[in-house]
Amino acid sequence: MQTAPLKLKIAHLYPDLLNIYGDMGNVLALSNRAKWRDIEVEVVKIKSGDNINADDYDLFFAGGGQDNQQVLAANELIKNGVELMRAAQMDKPMLAICGSYQLFGKYYLTSDNQKLRGISLLDIHTCAGNKRFIGNVTAICDFLPIRTIVGFENHSGQTHLGEEAEPLFKIKTGNGNNGLDKTEGARYKNVFGTYLHGPLLPKNPHFCDYLLQLALDTKYKCKIPLLPLNDEIEYYAHEARICAKY
Ligand code: GLN
Repeated sequence: MQTAPLKLKIAHLYPDLLNIYGDMGNVLALSNRAKWRDIEVEVVKIKSGDNINADDYDLFFAGGGQDNQQVLAANELIKNGVELMRAAQMDKPMLAICGSYQLFGKYYLTSDNQKLRGISLLDIHTCAGNKRFIGNVTAICDFLPIRTIVGFENHSGQTHLGEEAEPLFKIKTGNGNNGLDKTEGARYKNVFGTYLHGPLLPKNPHFCDYLLQLALDTKYKCKIPLLPLNDEIEYYAHEARICAKY
């Protein structure tokens, strides 16, 4: 039985390069929702040049970034690619949003034809399109009890999934991966990639708690129930987004 205080260590990958549209709010949601349940949290900002050891962290997060920042972030991710793959194979939860989602895939072909190699945690590839997808998104999630997910997308990259990746959500309104196949994001094991900013987790506390639960289960190798929280305000924000016009 677990008696010592529970603790989670979160790696925030390259916040200096990948942090647009309030993606930092996702880290705040993860750490606050853990702390409100008396789970100790340490957030480590991984900076350019840092070496990652997969064993040191329980959960990984990376935000979105514009193409210029993505060039720099791609190099950093590649340097730590082996350890990040090892973390994925250990079932550690990882959430990558937009720019980092693209770089968690096989490659991202930019609008000026630069091929940025990704770390291939997800079997996806992305090519810049000539249309920008901007707006609110409502998606359906089939692995959570509350099935709606809301967010905000802003990307020109169009992502296609290979056989090893499953779509994370299904698009109800908005564009998602490519505007064509109604898929949004991708999943492999506990690696989650999505185009949804928002920030995503404050407005979808059920998804935030799912990630925390995975992190605890994987770390402590047993089921640790998460105490319920009063999410009235969070779901007010969630509902407001569902009603918002695209
Ligand atoms: N540069 C990428 C695109 O537009 C990612 C943008 C983002 O992270 N919002 O597709």
